[in-house]
Amino acid sequence: MSGKIIIITAPSGAGKTSITRYLLEKFPQLEFSVSAATRPPRRNEKNGVDYYFISVEQFQQKIEAHAFVEWEMVYEGKYYGTLKSELERIWALEKVPVLDIDVKGAIHVQRKFPANALSIFVQPPSIDELKKRLQSRGTESEESIATRVNKASYELSFSHSFNEVIVNHQLDKACTDTAEVVLSFLNT
Ligand code: 5GP
Repeated sequence: MSGKIIIITAPSGAGKTSITRYLLEKFPQLEFSVSAATRPPRRNEKNGVDYYFISVEQFQQKIEAHAFVEWEMVYEGKYYGTLKSELERIWALEKVPVLDIDVKGAIHVQRKFPANALSIFVQPPSIDELKKRLQSRGTESEESIATRVNKASYELSFSHSFNEVIVNHQLDKACTDTAEVVLSFLNT
């Protein structure tokens, strides 16, 4: 059984997490799809809420057991994946999962559910602006920021692969633009 899926993707720091939070507050029929990840939790992150934080060994076991809809090594040595059980949990609640995932993962999910997925690419106004946002977030080292910025340039070239592109010049406007697209998807 599979229902609708909403995929929000973007380079890290483009604002997709803020937009995802806005959507989850606005539409009670949406539920955040909690991914499995092997990176350590940041301050304030909770297991089972932000991610299912698991070890690399546990992650590899799940790959072998075909437990993932998609998974990626998003950063060197750090795995992230969408669990089939998570989508099923949300569909069983008669809700629509919202996936906040990287660009490659988003392309995979979209291919698996071509008829049921709405994919939204959040585009930062520029690479410079993206770098500033990552620096002001204060959660990443300089090295991690450099990795994310390099990856972002590459990811921007895939924007045309998605159903909708939202340019995040101004977060409020990006949120309401996204909500409009989501509303029409939920109503079809
Ligand atoms: P962060 O470490 O900043 O929480 O996330 C890093 C990146 O991994 C973000 O772009 C996030 O959207 C992405 N990500 C989170 N969960 C998944 C997942 O299940 N699959 C994939 N492919 N990417 C994910």
